[in-house]
Amino acid sequence: MMPEATTTLSPCSAKPGTGALTDAFCRRISYLRVSVTDRCDFRCTYCMAERVEFLPRKDLLTLEELDRLCSAFVGLGVTKLRITGGEPLVRKGILGFFRAMSRHLASGALRELTLTTNGSQLARHAEELAACGVRRVNVSLDTLDPGRFARLTRRGRLETVLDGIAAARAAGLRVKINAVALRGHTEDELFPLVDWCAAEGHDLTFIEVMPLGETSIEERLDQYLPLSDLRARLAGRFTLQPLAGTTGGPARYLQLAETGQRIGFITPLSHNFCESCNRVRLGCTGTLHTCLGQEGATDLRAPLRGCPQQAELEEAIRAAIARKPRGHDFDYSRAAPGGAVRRAMNRTGG
Ligand code: SAM
Ligand code: SF4
Repeated sequence: MMPEATTTLSPCSAKPGTGALTDAFCRRISYLRVSVTDRCDFRCTYCMAERVEFLPRKDLLTLEELDRLCSAFVGLGVTKLRITGGEPLVRKGILGFFRAMSRHLASGALRELTLTTNGSQLARHAEELAACGVRRVNVSLDTLDPGRFARLTRRGRLETVLDGIAAARAAGLRVKINAVALRGHTEDELFPLVDWCAAEGHDLTFIEVMPLGETSIEERLDQYLPLSDLRARLAGRFTLQPLAGTTGGPARYLQLAETGQRIGFITPLSHNFCESCNRVRLGCTGTLHTCLGQEGATDLRAPLRGCPQQAELEEAIRAAIARKPRGHDFDYSRAAPGGAVRRAMNRTGG
């Protein structure tokens, strides 16, 4: 079994409102994930419908608004910023935003500026991302088979993504491959992905498919492949050594004794990681989601657009963090996925 979080959350006696960002359960919030667009050049079957309706452009935060909001979070103690989407690198002018955020790295306020990408635009942007202080990049890649890749992403080309990954490495970026575990698919991909990542020196993490967005319940149950299944398959070929330590997120790590490789497992559905959750997500319209698995959210666009005062914006952020729920209710153990959330991953940011 993977190590489970054991702490039970209890309400915090400290008063919110001053100092570092802390929620009502004393969890310190230091990690912000920002979706900079809901648009994407792929239509991955587990993420988006083929004919997806994107939001009107006026609803998206401008890059200047994103700068102001992210900078406010950094001012309140956020030290890690992950840019995601949709596909972040399809947003026009996004490299200017990375350049702007790099000032917080230079000042020492931000420890890490990073992104999650499908890799389609990485070949042309990798060097500039490195120049902006990005050191690591997560690239989503579920298969190394070109035909399967095209079917799964509905419009992606594997070769383009592999070129992007090579460019990232050439620019000095560390690459972590994220693969969503899908029944009837990842069983075949497991060893090719593990071997390829070992040969290329990439980290690798598997993610359980989550019940987000409009995908039908039947489809979700068909797609769901528990990571315990992948782990058992790995154990058939490798000696697995659990690694201690947590990033405050849902990932747990194993080392393959034979290769020294570290494999991550993100299991929001089978393991409770909420006790150590240090993150919140800002959607592309300025909605703050303090829990990926709950519908509750706070609109920060209105205070952002309505008031030029930084203090009021900070107050709105603190109030939203104070309402961060204790945890999510995802559950596949019943006949239908419990705790499903209608909002799609591309708007909230994965
Ligand atoms: N477009 C970028 C990408 O694919 O890396 C960034 C956004 S994408 C929404 C972020 C991550 O969410 C990807 O690794 C993707 O595989 C994952 N993802 C999307 N839908 C998911 C779902 N329903 N369950 C689990 N992971 C999902
Ligand atoms: Fe686009 Fe990423 Fe969603 Fe795939 S997972 S459709 S690449 S946003």
